[in-house]
Amino acid sequence: MSASAAAAATDSPSSSSAPRLQGKVALVTGGASGIGEAIVRLFRQHGAKVCIADIHDEAGQQVCRSLGGDPDVLFVHCDVTVEEDISQAVDAAAEKFGTLDIMVNNAGITGDKVTDIRNLDFAEVKKVFDINVHGMLLGMKHAARIMIPNSKGSIVSLASVASVMGGLGPHAYTASKHAVAGLTKSVALELGRHGIRVNCVSPYAVPTALSMPHLPQGEHKGDAVRDFLAFVGSEANLKGVDLLPKDVAEAVLYLASDEARYISALNLVVDGGFTSVNRNLK
Ligand code: NAD
Repeated sequence: MSASAAAAATDSPSSSSAPRLQGKVALVTGGASGIGEAIVRLFRQHGAKVCIADIHDEAGQQVCRSLGGDPDVLFVHCDVTVEEDISQAVDAAAEKFGTLDIMVNNAGITGDKVTDIRNLDFAEVKKVFDINVHGMLLGMKHAARIMIPNSKGSIVSLASVASVMGGLGPHAYTASKHAVAGLTKSVALELGRHGIRVNCVSPYAVPTALSMPHLPQGEHKGDAVRDFLAFVGSEANLKGVDLLPKDVAEAVLYLASDEARYISALNLVVDGGFTSVNRNLK
């Protein structure tokens, strides 16, 4: 199975059958693959009109085609590090679908694999922060521009278990995800007075183009996704359950929906207990 097949494995409805986002308009950055793609597909199943904003045009158009040219899905080229791109993507969604109710700040990168600080490439650190932190802050800024006059809205950002612990990836990635969790709290406190909720979701390792290259050397034996899940499962607390993009999408769906209407400033960890294990006692 490829990473894109894993992301697409959301097409059979898994959550409750009543549509939970009927009449809502959502924008998903990085919606052309991986977790973002799974969010787009789940949001469509739940009745939202969705704008995919991604730097990868061909993959974004492919997601639109795979949804059968659905008129309630729009692709907009957007580099989240360019303020004009984010501003235009938000405006394009609002113009085509009438408003913006849900902003999902999902686009992110891990940066290179270097974890030895002596070999740190500072240009790479800046790139990680530009996408993972500044891009998400710009997403919040421009979503707020549309949401404040409506006195409602939900902003959900993708952090990571690296937002609550170290040792899981490059230093800059860990720092950037801690920053996403901090931004979530700070912006939630400001926007709460406008009726806008701001939360983040922190998954453990999910098979996508972002994470699979980080499988340790020697762990690739055959099917890439199966190898990844086998390795991650051996490290996880919750045995026998694979964490897939759709599981993360379900958490985002909950926070985006009115069912979470009193939930704000939350970092919802989706890790099967991984971050609660005291590894010294293993
Ligand atoms: P992915 O690489 O599969 O998808 C990321 C998407 O973001 C791609 O479509 C890419 O084109 C897009 N993108 C990258 N840079 C962009 C930019 N500058 N502007 C616009 N779009 C851009 O990654 P994923 O695994 O689906 O990750 C999605 C989010 O989830 C990220 O924020 C990531 O840090 C987070 N996350 C992933 C995992 C995991 O194990 N996969 C775990 C925890 C958190």
